[in-house]
Amino acid sequence: MKKYFPVEKTFIEKLLTRQRKYVKAVDNITFGIERGEVFSLVGETGSGKSTTGKLILRLINPTSGKIFFDGQDITNLKGEGLRKLRRYMQIIYQDPYSSLNPRMKVGEAIGHPLEIHEIAKGDKERELVLNMLEKVGLSPADEFYDIYPDQLSGGQRQRVAIARAMITKPEFIVADEPVSSIDVSLRASILELMMNLKEELKLSYLFITHDLAVAKYISNKIAVLYLGKIVEMGPTHVLFKEPLHPYTKALISAIPVPTPKLKKERIKLKGEIPSAINIPKGCRFHPRCIEKIKICEKREPELREIKKGHYVACHLYP
Ligand code: SF4
Repeated sequence: MKKYFPVEKTFIEKLLTRQRKYVKAVDNITFGIERGEVFSLVGETGSGKSTTGKLILRLINPTSGKIFFDGQDITNLKGEGLRKLRRYMQIIYQDPYSSLNPRMKVGEAIGHPLEIHEIAKGDKERELVLNMLEKVGLSPADEFYDIYPDQLSGGQRQRVAIARAMITKPEFIVADEPVSSIDVSLRASILELMMNLKEELKLSYLFITHDLAVAKYISNKIAVLYLGKIVEMGPTHVLFKEPLHPYTKALISAIPVPTPKLKKERIKLKGEIPSAINIPKGCRFHPRCIEKIKICEKREPELREIKKGHYVACHLYP
């Protein structure tokens, strides 16, 4: 899958050049998520994680590539077909302050998808919403049903957003940094809630995060994204035990550890992630890589399976 966004040219640029420029937000990636799995996409800001999530949910269209859900090609689904699909694929956004309509009461906000998908309305809708409020820990549910989002804390708002995503009994959830704007003390409880709901509702997650420690805690598999490309992918325990890509190694070395004795030396990356408009030639990570060799500036490495299920895109592993 690819997603390139065209860059608007200034008047002068239009006169000087005909060449179009693109932000290559997602640049040829392939992966699969098994039923019941938690698959994490990790990387810095600007790596293409959120764009990937939106593409999979068909909130934006890919420049090229295909998306399959439960064996069905959904890439070109439109209208009624797409509306029906949305019941089974939901999203939880990072910021519960902007993802909830401030003029909609909590009960209304959670019940709204039930009406859109013609699952329930009236008393039945209220009953389902109250049950869901209890499930996400907003109890007694009656007290939360008729209040507005601005009467809630950040953690409670995110519980409402989770309830709204789960109310249609989806099969697949894209969770886009669901705990990063919540107070640190509440993060573990929200993650625990999401994992409990996953078991209860038999969900699969695509979990988007910049925090490898969070990904380690909740996922079965991890894909590390860098400038729109997957540079390493594999089962979580394998990636942490034996990271191969220099970027993955650097990210893992930056995770804080509770015991200073266990702390390994931090690998410091050079500079910032480059712009996705001017992607470096060869290996896109080479300007920041401390292990680069001659070929790295010339040829882009392909993502290859080094051991069963463990993929890496790096010339150090031919
Ligand atoms: Fe570093 Fe070269 Fe591997 Fe890229 S291909 S990560 S520059 S060693």
